[in-house]
Amino acid sequence: MIEKELGRTGERVPAIGLGTWQLGGEQAVEALVEGVKAGAWLIDTAEAYGTEGLVGQALKKLKDQGVNVFLATKVSPSHFHHDDVIRSCEASLSRLGVKTIDLYQLHWPNHSIPIAETMGAMEELVEAGKIRYIGVSNFSSKELDEARASLKREDVVSDQVKYSPFDRHVEPDLFPYCEKEGITVIAYSPLEHGRALSNPLLGGKVAEIAAKYGKSPVQVLLNWVISKPRVIAIPKASSVGHALEDAGAGNFSLAPADLEALDAALGGR
Ligand code: NAP
Repeated sequence: MIEKELGRTGERVPAIGLGTWQLGGEQAVEALVEGVKAGAWLIDTAEAYGTEGLVGQALKKLKDQGVNVFLATKVSPSHFHHDDVIRSCEASLSRLGVKTIDLYQLHWPNHSIPIAETMGAMEELVEAGKIRYIGVSNFSSKELDEARASLKREDVVSDQVKYSPFDRHVEPDLFPYCEKEGITVIAYSPLEHGRALSNPLLGGKVAEIAAKYGKSPVQVLLNWVISKPRVIAIPKASSVGHALEDAGAGNFSLAPADLEALDAALGGR
């Protein structure tokens, strides 16, 4: 699995992790367990998803097998007042069955609550050892900059945003900022919530390139996402088969000529 530095922490995370929004079904826990064991050892959830309990079950199984996971979850914007952040974190820790969350993210900006108040609580959580790193989600470069300026000791290590071969809206503004400032971009809905799979390109140029590498079209799409500097991706998979396929997207690199051919087929931004 390709690994990338998280922010400027010196710590490395896998380029492919596992998302859990709307994760459910018979194989959900097993899909997480097997996906992690296949190399996608980062799991992303949120208090809003209702999947922290399920993630907790997977974490327990993995711990019993001695497998390490980088755990990311999120606090909802309605809980950005100081005491609510602390309460939300405690509740997530309890649902997840862990003592520490690796990455705690502000799920969306909330302009009605001063960011300094929210970030003050986040820094207290770091100091108390309840969370290790602070991240944000759905923040523009301007919002990210303001969030960072309101921190006293810590820095924001990541911004989780929607990004896929078919939705490149964050490229002009956020990507240059994150590259310059050393902030990890966590690409969510990298398969367009499943819609990418019915794009005609998957049977055309993408399939052609995939065949060259002995990979599937889905793996090529995900690999294209993580070919971008500082970007990691968190596809969601409900079955073991999908989870293994997604994890297998992170153990090869598309050659520059193939990336260019893909870019041309995708039609740029
Ligand atoms: P996604 O990962 O783009 O797509 C998920 C869909 O793709 C599911 O229908 C899944 O099917 C299918 N899929 C996955 N792997 C596949 C494979 N190998 N072959 C065929 N189909 C495959 O969508 P997403 O869930 O919207 O985004 C991923 C994660 O990003 C979320 O789970 C969540 O953790 C995060 N997210 C964050 C935010 C935010 O505001 N921060 C917003 C949205 C999402 P099955 O389920 O049947 O396997």
